[in-house]
Amino acid sequence: RIVYVNGDYVPEAEAKVSVFDRGFLFADGVYEVTSVLDGKLIDFEGHATRLERSLKELDMASPVTMDELLEIHRELVRRNEVAEGMIYLQITRGADADRDFAFPDPEKVPSSIVLFTQSKKLADSPAAKVGMKVISIEDQRWGRRDIKTVQLLYPSMGKMMAKAAGKDDAWMVEDGAVTEGTSNNAYIVKDGVIVTRHLGNEILHGITRAAVLRFAREAQMRVEERPFTIEEAQGADEAFITSASTFVMPVVEIDGEAVGSGTPGPVATRLREIYLDESRKAAI
Ligand code: PLP
Repeated sequence: RIVYVNGDYVPEAEAKVSVFDRGFLFADGVYEVTSVLDGKLIDFEGHATRLERSLKELDMASPVTMDELLEIHRELVRRNEVAEGMIYLQITRGADADRDFAFPDPEKVPSSIVLFTQSKKLADSPAAKVGMKVISIEDQRWGRRDIKTVQLLYPSMGKMMAKAAGKDDAWMVEDGAVTEGTSNNAYIVKDGVIVTRHLGNEILHGITRAAVLRFAREAQMRVEERPFTIEEAQGADEAFITSASTFVMPVVEIDGEAVGSGTPGPVATRLREIYLDESRKAAI
């Protein structure tokens, strides 16, 4: 596999970053994951726009332009012959040999950028046919979850708590309401109305979320963006999650309680089909 590191395309075994990199020492970095279907990028523009926002919020410079970024994505897909899978992109505040909490001067320490690909079957997913089981956990992340930073320790711990309970993922709860999944946005459906938490600093503004809500509204489905509780979710007709790599994925159990029939529901199933069709058409 060829990876991209700071301007070079190199075999993964030769790809190196400094031990002083602030991404490594301080989790001082941001990332994006863009999916690939039929060798094309899904919603590249959405991911590039969110990346620019994340960088701006952290006062970090991008080492490449967004046009260059698109070229790098395409070049990696070509070189690694990715028909279906993901591209991971990470930008960190570079490597400063003097470890210091204060940010280094960006003129002296340029930010560093790494991209790699992962080939994986995404669209034809067995999990989408049976649905996921989730547990609820307290949301203990920092307060700026709208910035896509590489500080993913708590979500990783949440995933391990789910695994230990024999389930697939965890929904995080703050002040009694669901924020989101460990790496996805969370939704419920009741009496035909799709409910998902409103945007704010408490959740990541999912690129898939934006697309799915747009498609839902275009298909005349009703959408409410507001907080909901675990109890409300357990009493819903359906539940599901969205993310760039899972698209729309049904959730059939929450804290041991079946949601609706305990099988993937019609709204989630239909939204998954619409999302896949429309994203394939718009892929670049
Ligand atoms: N929420 C969190 C915490 C995430 O980590 C992710 C994706 O990684 C999402 C939501 C979904 O965002 P997107 O649809 O842009 O992949």
